[in-house]
Amino acid sequence: MRAFSLYQPEGYRTIYSQPDYDDNHISPMYAGYSELSTNVGLGHEIRLRGVSLRLLEQAEVVAVNDNNRKLFNLSRLSDGSVIAPNRDLYRKPLPDFMRTGGQALEPAAIGEVRRTDVLLLGLDALPLPDGAIATLQRSCPAGKGALLSFAELLRNAAKEYLDIEQSEPDVGLQPTRTGATVSARVFLADALDNGAGYAVELGAATTFDKLLNSIRDTTGQRLRDEPHRVACTSSCPGCLRNYENRFSHWALDWRLGLDVVDLALGRPLDPANWADRTAALMQSFSDGYGQHIRVEQAVVNGLPALIAPEGPGAAIVIGHPLWRHEDAHWNPEVRRATTELHGRGLAHVTVSDTYVLDRTPIKLFNALIGQ
Ligand SMILES: [Zn+2]
Repeated sequence: MRAFSLYQPEGYRTIYSQPDYDDNHISPMYAGYSELSTNVGLGHEIRLRGVSLRLLEQAEVVAVNDNNRKLFNLSRLSDGSVIAPNRDLYRKPLPDFMRTGGQALEPAAIGEVRRTDVLLLGLDALPLPDGAIATLQRSCPAGKGALLSFAELLRNAAKEYLDIEQSEPDVGLQPTRTGATVSARVFLADALDNGAGYAVELGAATTFDKLLNSIRDTTGQRLRDEPHRVACTSSCPGCLRNYENRFSHWALDWRLGLDVVDLALGRPLDPANWADRTAALMQSFSDGYGQHIRVEQAVVNGLPALIAPEGPGAAIVIGHPLWRHEDAHWNPEVRRATTELHGRGLAHVTVSDTYVLDRTPIKLFNALIGQ
C-alpha cells in the first residue's frame, strides 16, 4: 500500500490559451474511482447469513483521481493558485510563468470528498476458506471481478426497488482482511450530499434479504435463461454494463455476481452454473492449442481437467472461479482430483479455473508445456 494526499479543488484557473473546440480531441477521460474513507468508525452490525450490514452515517466517500496511479505534480504559483504541470495533461506547452517559478509541492491526487450515508457490507461469513472471497490475483483471479459484479447487481436491484436513476446510489469496494485472506467489503452510498436516505432503507435486514432473494430468483432466472445465457459470455448492457461503470466492464461477469449472491445467502457455490461455459471454453482451448500439443479433455473426480499426456505429462484441474488457487486452500474435491492425476504418472499437476481459461488461456497452455 502507498499513502498519498488528496486535495479537493475549490475552483479551477485558466491557462490563458484558447484551443478551438474539437470533439475528436475529447478522449474518454478516466473519471477516477470512489473510495470509502478509512477514518470512520464501524457502526452497529446486523448479521444476515453470510453478510454483515453496517450503516455508517455521514461517512466520507472520496472520489479519487490519481492520474492513473501516477499522481499529479503540483506547483504553487505566486498568486496562490496550485497547478498540475504534468506534460501529458496539456495539448500545448504551458505558458512560461507556469512552468518556471512555481513552488513545487508533494505530488498528490485530486478528488471530491462527500459526506453521506453509507451501507457497508462485510462479506465475511461466506461458505469459503476464511469466510471471504480472496481478491489477490494469485489466490483467486476472479475475486475482485466477482465483488464488483455483485455490487452492480445490488445497485440495479436497489435502483429498481427504490425507483431511482442509475447514478444513485454509488457502489465501491473497500479493501479489508478477513483472517489471512485479503478481500474487500462492498459499500453502497447515497450519491447525494448528506444522503437521501437510501442507505438507511436498504440496510434494514428484511429489505436487504428481500433484495438478495429477488436478485437470485428474478434477475438470476432471466440471466440464466436463453437467450442471455448463451449470448452473454461475461457481461453486456442487458445485465451489468452501463455508462457509469464503463471503467469496470472488463471485470464484470454476471455468473460471478450471482455466485456471490448465493454465498451471501449462505448457499454453497454451484459448479453446475459454470458447466456449459467450461465445456465450451475447454473445447475452444483444445481446438486452438491442440495444433501445438496433444490435449485431452477429461473428468477427474467429477471435475473437468485438461491433460497433456506426452513427455513428462501435465494436467490442469479446472475448478470453480471462486475456489482458491493456493495449495493450502484446495477443497477436498480438488485435492482428490490432483492426487488422482499424479497417480496417473503426470509430472506437473496444477489448479486453475474457468475464469482464467476464458480470460488468459495462454497461462494454461504454458502450464501444460511445463513453463
Ligand atoms: Zn449480459
